[in-house]
Amino acid sequence: MTLAPATDLVVTAADLLRDRSWAALTGAGASTDSGIPDYRGPTSIRATPMQFSEFTGSAEARRRYWARSYQGWRRIGRAQPNAGHRALAGLETAGLRGVITQNVDGLHQAAGSRGVINLHGDIARVVCLDCERLSSRLEMQRRLADLNLDLPVPARLEHAELRPDGDAVVEQWHDFVLADCTECGGRLKPDVVFFGESVPRDRVAQAYALVEATEVLVVLGSSLTVMSGLRFVRHNAKRGQPVVIINRGPTRGDALATIKIDGGCSETLTVLQTQLAC
Ligand SMILES: [Zn+2]
Repeated sequence: MTLAPATDLVVTAADLLRDRSWAALTGAGASTDSGIPDYRGPTSIRATPMQFSEFTGSAEARRRYWARSYQGWRRIGRAQPNAGHRALAGLETAGLRGVITQNVDGLHQAAGSRGVINLHGDIARVVCLDCERLSSRLEMQRRLADLNLDLPVPARLEHAELRPDGDAVVEQWHDFVLADCTECGGRLKPDVVFFGESVPRDRVAQAYALVEATEVLVVLGSSLTVMSGLRFVRHNAKRGQPVVIINRGPTRGDALATIKIDGGCSETLTVLQTQLAC
């Protein structure tokens, strides 16, 4: 069931944003209406997310990761922007100066948002850990398909990917053939920030610059459990600038929020857009 946000709070938020510049910080909750599961973290495809050190240090871990990610892409690669993404893109005419997103699905850009900072990377790209060459995920999918022609693709594998309980498919990982970098033969990784890995410094600086250049920060669909997002809320609060949080359920930033709206992104942003168009 979709919970309607308290309209009076959205009106208050609209009054705060009207004639001000603002930045948005979005998390998994912005993409759930597009059918992308709310993973526990930005890049996790397991209940226990794979750590960066595990991925880099073990060929077996990479095999397991790619075997599942190869399957999961069929779902994520098909995802379309939802009403919230579209409303946010439309709000660029109402003071929104840029979007910092913790999501790696590219749906803000697909909805037409400009000036998106992909804090945790972009799942549609692949990076070589050894020579840093970037390549396309579609190309990687094609290569993996060619290398794994004999791999059985039972429907339950995709299911296991999305609601991870995966032990049933463990054996299949061992037969999965990995693709290496076409330039250097090195280790390929989706161009997303793993747990245990830092967000690149220039990207963080870019995000701080956006927050500092605007008057209000609006958090959308993030419980702010990871510091990579929470620090921007703290930064804005420290500057004495308003913070609006729109999220289903509590967040780690609630105590710093000027306005907290307990609601979904799509329905809240749709109302907000209507309000700000007045
Ligand atoms: Zn390479």
